[in-house]
Amino acid sequence: MATLSCPHCHQKIDSQAIACPYCRTQLKAYGHPGIPLHRAKKDEYLCDRCTYHADDTCTFPKRPYAKDCTLYQNIEESKLDLQQLQQSKSFGTTLRTWIKRNQTLLLILALLLVCFAIALSTS
Ligand code: SF4
Ligand SMILES: [Zn+2]
Repeated sequence: MATLSCPHCHQKIDSQAIACPYCRTQLKAYGHPGIPLHRAKKDEYLCDRCTYHADDTCTFPKRPYAKDCTLYQNIEESKLDLQQLQQSKSFGTTLRTWIKRNQTLLLILALLLVCFAIALSTS
């Protein structure tokens, strides 16, 4: 069983628990054990680090002072995803420019292959 410590009383509890059995702090969205309820640290608000606050798409009344939220998405993590996406995209473009630059070489290779195939089939 995976455990975590309660954000309120710091007791070790089951990571799937809906509420802390010691202090009764709610840990998951109400009635949805699969959906984590994100909680802000003491002097912070979740919105400060949330993607939906940054791109202004959140319509929650709690914003911008949400202390807990089920929709919160860490902006640092989504930036990381974006970077990875851009990196994989740039690999595709490098491959394409390489092919463009070496078109003649590829053409010659293709011709050689055809000649080879003809030579094989006639012998
Ligand atoms: S989704 Fe939640 S954490 Fe994010 S901006 Fe809206 S209220 Fe704040
Ligand atoms: Zn607790």
